[in-house]
Amino acid sequence: MNAELFSLRGRTALVTGARTGIGRAVALGLAGAGADLVLLGRTDDLGEVSEQAGALGVRAEGVGVDLADPAAAEPELAALLDRRPIDVLVNNAGIIHRQPAAQVSHADWRRVLDVDLDAVFLLCRLAGERMLARGHGKIINIASLLSFQGGLRVPAYAAAKHAVAGLTKSLANEWAPHGVQVNAIAPGYIRTNNTAALRADEERAAEIGSRIPAGRWGEPADLVGAAVFLASGAADYVNGHVLVVDGGWMAR
Ligand code: NAP
Repeated sequence: MNAELFSLRGRTALVTGARTGIGRAVALGLAGAGADLVLLGRTDDLGEVSEQAGALGVRAEGVGVDLADPAAAEPELAALLDRRPIDVLVNNAGIIHRQPAAQVSHADWRRVLDVDLDAVFLLCRLAGERMLARGHGKIINIASLLSFQGGLRVPAYAAAKHAVAGLTKSLANEWAPHGVQVNAIAPGYIRTNNTAALRADEERAAEIGSRIPAGRWGEPADLVGAAVFLASGAADYVNGHVLVVDGGWMAR
């Protein structure tokens, strides 16, 4: 096999939500394939993951930018992208609000949409504009099984993640002719902070576990292969795809 096909040496990847969970694992996975990193966190508490990346021999810079108010974050993000041109953008930061739909306040609805959708579009737009000017780039949006299914008691999250899949395809259609590939990864049920409450609910956790053909919940590291693939030259002809990494959940 031609290992160079998956090499990210000489590329710079920006990963949002890089402090924990899937973002951390994906960032370190991209570093393992040779990418320098711009690690974005809600705060600048990114020392540990920067150190881990540095130990892999790549250059890693941690930057705290709160994506809760995308319009307010725009100037800072634009300046960052002007200073550090990036080849790969991973829109991973996300939040979830679990509550019966009839009780969800407008504020909670908006809070989820701001981080899980508006900030994703903002970063796609800012990074995409610069990638189009350079004639190449890869964008990977972290979608969800709830890009396809409704889930239970997470209406804002399901709406945002469906929209992320639509946005991914929309941007892919526009930008594919210009050398920018836009794709998404839809993780299954992964052991992270995002699913801590779900795993604490024994009945729901057992219900979910029993439906996963692989017979286990996923780990953040399970997403690394898909991310390296979509970030690399191996995916130069992959556009607008939502790659499900779910232990078989959707096949069931
Ligand atoms: P996680 O550990 O909670 O990671 C979420 C990350 O997003 C955290 O690093 C968090 O930073 C960051 N973030 C949250 N609010 C932010 C804000 N306002 N500004 C900047 N960053 C912010 O959970 P995860 O499971 O790894 O989630 C990563 C992505 O995977 C999310 O988009 C999630 O929807 C998606 N996903 C997860 C699963 C799953 O089963 N776990 C399944 C499908 C999709 P702080 O920790 O500093 O707040």
